[in-house]
Amino acid sequence: MTLLDGFTFPGISSRVIFGRGTLAQVGPEVVRLGHRRALVLATPHQAGEAVGLAASLGNLACGMFTEAAMHTPVDVSERAVAAYRDLGADCVVAVGGGSTIGLAKAIAVQVGADQVVVPTTYAGSEMTDILGESSGGQKTTRRDPAIRPEVVIYDVDLTLTLPVALTVTSALNAIAHGVEVLYAKDGNPILSAMAVQAMGAFRTGLPAVVADPLDVEARAQVLYGAWLCSTGLGYAAMALHHKLCHTLGGSFGVPHSETHAILIPHTAAFNAVAVPDLLSPVAAVFGGSVGGGLWDFAAGCGAPLALRDLGLTETDLDRAALIATANPYDNPRPFDRTLIRALLQDAWAGTRPD
Ligand code: NAD
Repeated sequence: MTLLDGFTFPGISSRVIFGRGTLAQVGPEVVRLGHRRALVLATPHQAGEAVGLAASLGNLACGMFTEAAMHTPVDVSERAVAAYRDLGADCVVAVGGGSTIGLAKAIAVQVGADQVVVPTTYAGSEMTDILGESSGGQKTTRRDPAIRPEVVIYDVDLTLTLPVALTVTSALNAIAHGVEVLYAKDGNPILSAMAVQAMGAFRTGLPAVVADPLDVEARAQVLYGAWLCSTGLGYAAMALHHKLCHTLGGSFGVPHSETHAILIPHTAAFNAVAVPDLLSPVAAVFGGSVGGGLWDFAAGCGAPLALRDLGLTETDLDRAALIATANPYDNPRPFDRTLIRALLQDAWAGTRPD
């Protein structure tokens, strides 16, 4: 792709605040949006953060809902919407990872609430207009401008408690967004530059966080990378990698960030065959070949490397390849069931891609 092919830059509509101690900005941002009664959201695990935030918001918080769960179950969202209405809330404030931000989005699309979100993982939901919801064992995903949070507040201090294992897989989840931005059919030079800068931030920051999870400067690097990659996810179409992760998560129940972490060296290596120039910055950042460099980086950070360690069987791979290739979608390298089955085999066994 050259500049003469042209591109569209869609703009970035969310207001972003980044730094340390920025949780204190939640109240002023709620007021700036013209609201007075925020419903504070969290998972049960982060209920303590919600209590602290609600206390600091004082009269600006009308209550809390701390039942956010992975994959945004529709029944949980219905209870949250009922709480929102019962409490007379006029906006939502989410503190947590993709699960909590997903709940904020689910409420927002139903009641038109403004969202102030404070991400505490690197999964990247905060900058996107994407909502994935689950019901009866099925996960459906949609995009809508009303889903995108109005304000995103990154507070490095809140990431210090993120366990190392989740830190690593969540960061690789973010890197996967960045990789797919580089060849996105609706990508643009700004998002690509952000993705490459993000990879440099992860390359420097993540090993340092693994060595010392309380290293605030390294945590800041990683969180900055997460913002850049979340932006890419929010404004460019993803391809094979995200399709495979969605298939494995939706049909086999494997955990979100671990699946991204294991697959990204393999999907990147697969697509590098078709678009070596577009993916060369990945190899430049991580060293070696595109897939090999990512695999070595993941291994060095202690990431899981084999899908079989997530409980998948080899028979599952046949069905996964079938589901993932049932409907056509854009990807820089054409693929069929045989190619995807082979890719999954390598990811299942934990083989280092070349
Ligand atoms: P998560 O939000 O489920 O968090 C995992 C656990 O870690 C939770 O118990 C959470 O409370 C805890 N946690 C989060 N931050 C913490 C911190 N700083 N310290 C201690 N504990 C912390 O996991 P996730 O990987 O952030 O999000 C995964 C979900 O997000 C999936 O459902 C995925 O589909 C969704 N997602 C959506 C989008 C989108 O654009 N719609 C993008 C990425 C992910």
